[in-house]
Amino acid sequence: MPDVGINTTMRTDIGLSAPSLYLYDLNRAQLGELLAGWGYSDYHASLVWSALYQQMAPTMAEMANLRDELRQKLAAASHLTPLPIAKQTSSQDGTRKYLLRLADGQLIETVLMPYRGRITACISTQAGCAMGCVFCATGQMGFMRHLTPGEIVAQVIHAQRVLQAEGKTLRNIVLMGMGEPLHNYDHTMTALEILMDHKGIALAPRHITLSTVGVIPGIRRLADEGHPFHLAVSLHAATDAERTALVPPAKKWPLAELIEACHYYVNKRGRRIFFEWALIEGKNDTPEQAHAVGRLLQTLKAHINLIPLNPTAGYGGRPSDAAAIKQFQQILSQYGLPSTVRQRRGIEINAGCGQLRAEVKNET
Ligand code: SAH
Ligand code: SF4
Repeated sequence: MPDVGINTTMRTDIGLSAPSLYLYDLNRAQLGELLAGWGYSDYHASLVWSALYQQMAPTMAEMANLRDELRQKLAAASHLTPLPIAKQTSSQDGTRKYLLRLADGQLIETVLMPYRGRITACISTQAGCAMGCVFCATGQMGFMRHLTPGEIVAQVIHAQRVLQAEGKTLRNIVLMGMGEPLHNYDHTMTALEILMDHKGIALAPRHITLSTVGVIPGIRRLADEGHPFHLAVSLHAATDAERTALVPPAKKWPLAELIEACHYYVNKRGRRIFFEWALIEGKNDTPEQAHAVGRLLQTLKAHINLIPLNPTAGYGGRPSDAAAIKQFQQILSQYGLPSTVRQRRGIEINAGCGQLRAEVKNET
C-alpha cells in the first residue's frame, strides 16, 4: 500500500495496531493518492468516493459501482467499520442519543435533536476534553484522546443512516458534542472538508456550526484559512475572574484577547459570530452581568445563544428561571445584541454534553 501520509501517524497516535486503514480518515486527495499507488486513475477514486459518501455503502462488497478487483484491493487494505452503539436513549422531545464505541473501546456521544422541523446532529471531536469547564460532564471526565477525521465522519454517517431508514435526510450538524474542536484542529478540518465535499455528503457550510471554548490561535487560524462554516464561542462570563472560575482555559486566553480575535474573525470573514452562554442561577444571570456582556460585544457582529444550565453530577449549579432569562435578554437587546434562548434538548435522557458517557462510567 502506498504511503498516503495519514495512516501510520493516525493509528499509532491512538495506540492501535490495526493492520488496515480506516477509509473514512482520507480526504478526497488522499483517496486519489491511494488509488494512484495501485495504478488506478482519478476517475476510479471518484467512484469510490461516491460509493462511500453518496451511496454510503456499508462494506466494500456493496460498492456496486466498482470492479471486483478494486473492491478486493480496498477490502484488503482498509476497513469501513461502523461505530457500534454501546447505549442508546431517546426522550419525549424526540432527541436521540447514541453512545458509540471506538475501536480502542473509548466511548463518544452523538445526539440527534429535532428542532423546528429539522434534525441537527451533535457531533463529538474528542473522547473527553482537556479544558475542564466545571459545569460540563465531558470536562469533568478529563481528556482521553483526539478523534481521527474518520471517527468524526463516521458519526455523521451513523446519523445519516438512522435518518435515511426513516425517509429523512440530515442537513445540520453542530460540533458541540464531546471535546474541543480547535484542540483537535487538523483532524476536525479534514472531517469537515470530507463532509462538505460536493460530490459526497455535501453538507452546506451554512448548516455547520463549530463551537469553541475560545482557543484564540484556532480562531485566528480559522479566520486566515477562510473556512465557510459558522463559528460559535462559549463565553459564559464577561470578566476574566468569573470566566476563569467556570472555564479554566480562560486563564491562558483572557477575554480582551479573545474578543480581539473575534473582531479579527468577523473582519476577515465578514460574518456574525454566535456566543454561547449557559445561564446558571445566581452565578452569571444577573442584570450587571447582562450589561457587562452588552458592553463587551456591542461593537461585534454577534448573536447570543442563552442556554439554561443542564445540571450535571459534578457541579452544583442550577438553571436560571424564566424571569431572569427574560430580563437578561432584554438588557442584551438594549445593546443591539440579538439573542435566542435554546433549551438543552433531551434533558431527561442526560443528553447534555458528555452526560450519557459519564452515566455509563458510573454504572460500571
Ligand atoms: N468544546 C466546545 C464544544 C462542545 S461543548 C465548547 O465548549 O464550545 C458545546 C456547548 O455546550 C458549549 O457552549 C458548552 O459550554 C455547553 N455546555 C456544556 N455543558 C453544559 C451544561 N451542563 N449546560 C449547558 N451548556 C453546557
Ligand atoms: Fe470541553 Fe466544551 Fe465541555 Fe468545556 S464545555 S469541557 S471545552 S466540551
